[in-house]
Amino acid sequence: MIPFNKPFLTGKETQYIEDAVKSGKISGNGKYTQKCQEFFEKNFGFKKCLLATSCTDALEMAAILLDIQPGDEVIMPSFTFVSTANAFVLRGAKIVFADSRKDHPNIDEETLESLITPRTKAIVPVHYAGVACNMDAIMDIAEKHQIFVVEDAAQAIDSYYTGRDGKKRALGSIGHLAAFSFHETKNIISGEGGMLAINDARFIERAEIIWEKGTNRSAFFRGDVDKYGWVDIGSSFLPSEIIAAFLWAQLENLEKIQEKRKSHWLFYREALKDWAAEHKIELPQLPEYATNNGHMFYLVCQNIQQRSRLIAQLRDKGVHPVFHYISLHSSQFFEPFHDSRVLTESDRFADCLVRLPMYYELEPQQVTDKLLTYEYS
Ligand SMILES: *Cc1c(COP(=O)(O)O)cnc(C)c1O
Repeated sequence: MIPFNKPFLTGKETQYIEDAVKSGKISGNGKYTQKCQEFFEKNFGFKKCLLATSCTDALEMAAILLDIQPGDEVIMPSFTFVSTANAFVLRGAKIVFADSRKDHPNIDEETLESLITPRTKAIVPVHYAGVACNMDAIMDIAEKHQIFVVEDAAQAIDSYYTGRDGKKRALGSIGHLAAFSFHETKNIISGEGGMLAINDARFIERAEIIWEKGTNRSAFFRGDVDKYGWVDIGSSFLPSEIIAAFLWAQLENLEKIQEKRKSHWLFYREALKDWAAEHKIELPQLPEYATNNGHMFYLVCQNIQQRSRLIAQLRDKGVHPVFHYISLHSSQFFEPFHDSRVLTESDRFADCLVRLPMYYELEPQQVTDKLLTYEYS
């Protein structure tokens, strides 16, 4: 059986967890948390990083930091995971869902301007499959209308965007804020886990306070203040050192993990090129400004019937592909709140996209051999 995902362990995770436990400091913001945060700041150019218990929590921190109030509007793609929207719904925001591009599930930047109103507070681009959204276009619109950009970079670790200035920037370093995930289905994992990257320095001080339950505890431990107390709203967003120790073992192997995943991705693309053309199935496309980080390899079928048949045939042969998402604008929860706009591309990806197995120890040829015998008329 070839599963869809299999968490990869580098071998050092339990050693570092044991070290954290023996050190006697297992709550958050200790040695391993700081090592991880510094690693990200140094290697990816994020101004300030705070580990979080999940990407969902990092997005909730972002919504608090932007001071989202009831009735504020937040624009995001409909083709995304629920957490992108929930974080802002929890603050009372009205979500305005945008369609995907024709060539990619990412948000269609050309529709953005028409969705902006005087109440628009933020845009949340999602770098689907770790492939960059058109960030120059999005940042220009945001600047023009004085709104914030929060990158949902859950899938986008170690992926890059080259802007019109020719500079290559890590995804998550471009928006005012960005959220990453270390859930076991992502490239770099800690079971559950995430991180908030803060690129606009105005948010750093308050982010630490929100992170530490609304107290200025971080400043106290640095010796910046004499006493710590309740200074703002907040929650318990920081993970324990046990999680951070696990994550550190992964980060030490980031290059090795990434090389392997990217080689699987390239293998899939090469092996399936002719087959996909023959069956009129689309393979993932990379805009010229984007890189591939080996997070996900997907196919876009012609219609839902073809996808169901393809999934059924692969399952019969012991391979477990998966599909997602139901467009959020037509979800059970949100449908009553959605306006009448039809989001054609988002619905097409919801019906036609299927993700192939992708994990470190995968042998992609075992999947492609089975796909090449797929029958469809
Ligand atoms: C995985 C994912 C999340 C949620 O991440 P968690 O760490 O599980 O909270 C949010 N957005 C997107 C696009 C994701 O892929």
